[in-house]
Amino acid sequence: MRAYNFSAGPAILPEEVLKEAAAELVDYQGTGMSIMEMSHRGKEYSAIHDECIANIKELLNIPEGYSVLFMTGGASTQFPLIPMNLLGEGETADYTNSGAWAAKAIKEAKMLGKVNIAADCGKEIPTRVPTADELKLTDGAAYLHITSNETISGAQWKEFPEHDCLIADMSSDILSRPLDVSKFGLIYAGSQKNLAPAGITLVIIKDELAEKCPETVPTIMRYKTHIENNSLYNTVPTFPVYILCLVTRWLKANGGLEGMQKINEAKAAKLYDLFDSSDFYKGTAVKEFRSTMNVTWRLPTEELEAQFIKEAAEKNLKTLKGHRSVGGIRASIYNAFPTEGVDALVAFMKEFEAKHS
Ligand code: PMP
Repeated sequence: MRAYNFSAGPAILPEEVLKEAAAELVDYQGTGMSIMEMSHRGKEYSAIHDECIANIKELLNIPEGYSVLFMTGGASTQFPLIPMNLLGEGETADYTNSGAWAAKAIKEAKMLGKVNIAADCGKEIPTRVPTADELKLTDGAAYLHITSNETISGAQWKEFPEHDCLIADMSSDILSRPLDVSKFGLIYAGSQKNLAPAGITLVIIKDELAEKCPETVPTIMRYKTHIENNSLYNTVPTFPVYILCLVTRWLKANGGLEGMQKINEAKAAKLYDLFDSSDFYKGTAVKEFRSTMNVTWRLPTEELEAQFIKEAAEKNLKTLKGHRSVGGIRASIYNAFPTEGVDALVAFMKEFEAKHS
């Protein structure tokens, strides 16, 4: 039996995708080899690589002049690569601090150049992200960096600020809703939440930005290298790209990003409605900024939280423990998380409240 797996990442993948991958794991389409045993420059893998990029371009309606890249080192490697490539000598980069992940991006950027914190609500509880009108922006800043969804606290940008060069860490909400990519200079996301197993980082970059990179940046660390080589400068992690390709097919067959957004909002609303009608469960995020991907809440005591997590697990509702840095409860309900699992959680929560309040 499959668990209702609320893990924040690596996270649940569509069951159909796992089954398809399992069916062709040992012998990919009659070749007698697994896809992970083949050259990253061979015919079979090349078809997957190119289809995956095409599907992402189609799903996000990516305009001309942008490239879709598969890089490595996780989203964390993008934290320094962005300033290395895009923060010129004497320039300032604006960053918003909305929580733990934004803070990590800021820490790396500060090692490499001048950073202005355009807004800081990183430590506020209840948690939120900044609003566009509170940003104190630097004239002529190289870029503005935001974290579209704070995976740990459960706060999400609903409307994005306008900027000549907007950069977003979308690790935990990429492909969960439609997006106007033309408003961004660069978008990046680690693969292990909404995309694929861990191992690749999806980067969507406006090509002209990559020209800015100083000559001193090593070849492998330049966006330009990856654009010019279609993400095949070095050996790309072929298996995560293969799974991502299957996931993009699954998204296309399930209503695309408009379809996903509707389902995701409906799933999240089931939990948020429960918080709004209960004195027992207290949501961690400010209402307007509640994440559709990572729903976070507290119970009256830490003992009750531990009891809640234990009893939930006995009912097949797994990995609900909040991040170790903040405690509480977190239900990560990415694209692949089934609605029935949210219904089962809501039913369990009502029962638990009746028993303990
Ligand atoms: N940014 C966000 C918003 C994240 O949730 C995570 C991972 N949880 C990261 C960055 C870091 O990603 P990685 O582990 O792929 O480096």
